Amino acid sequence: MQTENQKINLPILEEKKVTLSIKREDKIHPFVSGNKYRKLKYNVQKALQDNYDTLLTFGGAFSNHIAAAACAAQESGLRSIGIIRGEELAYKWKDNPTLATAADMGMQLQFVPRNLYREKNSEEFLGHLKSEFGRFYLLPEGGSNDLAVKGCEEILTEDDTVFDIICGCVGTGGTIAGMINATGNHQKVLGFPALKGDFLKESIRKFTAKENWELQTTYHFGGYAKVTSEYINFINEFKRCTQIPLDPVYTGKMMYGLMDMVKNDRFLPGTRILAIHTGGLQGIKGMNVTLKKKNLPLIDL
Ligand SMILES: *Cc1c(COP(=O)(O)O)cnc(C)c1O
Repeated sequence: MQTENQKINLPILEEKKVTLSIKREDKIHPFVSGNKYRKLKYNVQKALQDNYDTLLTFGGAFSNHIAAAACAAQESGLRSIGIIRGEELAYKWKDNPTLATAADMGMQLQFVPRNLYREKNSEEFLGHLKSEFGRFYLLPEGGSNDLAVKGCEEILTEDDTVFDIICGCVGTGGTIAGMINATGNHQKVLGFPALKGDFLKESIRKFTAKENWELQTTYHFGGYAKVTSEYINFINEFKRCTQIPLDPVYTGKMMYGLMDMVKNDRFLPGTRILAIHTGGLQGIKGMNVTLKKKNLPLIDL
């Protein structure tokens, strides 16, 4: 599957003589993040091929991966189980748009305390899950594994070799690793982490041997899903000027960072930039619930 590259017209781009296109992976699916769809594609194929009837995975309350896994499982006739961080959610998950929709799509939600959730990769915890749920195809938190990276190698196409710079969001690093694998050495990939942490480089190196990439680590706004009113205003302004919605957890931070780099002359005149819009738009509703409570501006729908 190939998605369209949309050329962006903004005064700042003209002033700095750089061009920007956005690859609209957000349009792959109305609910599932584009990259999560790509990460699940070969995993679902493998699960079916190996005769699994159940997909089990992990995530937090607003996880795009949980939403995507529920949807992909339903579409392919697999049962799905989501192990969700935070036992307090057991009483209020119906108010959480991500979890409520995942449940609607047939996902069985199991809420676990944070200390137990941290043990999710231990043999002991997995043993408990097996005795409780039987045989299942296991997807890690965020969905990054070799098959997920393989799926993300299909984000970039032959036509994209004309770009000098490719920008992408980084959560667990699987998506950008796939993109890096698909670039030529004349291209550079810039990753914009959505969270704080030095472990990200290592996670990316697990899935790619190429070196034509770097991370821009100063645009996380304090950490995963953390936002400020200046940042929310940027997302709304960007949508007003381009008609392109950005999600607050990933793509907004990448675009904020990229625009900041353009403003600060970090690209030579003539540079052709492609930014990947990975989706995540299902998370806006949930974020607006939080923003309202904190008296911060809301994201325009
Ligand atoms: C999950 C997600 C990412 C990050 O993907 P990783 O492979 O975990 O790095 C980026 N953008 C969106 C919209 C996502 O949902």
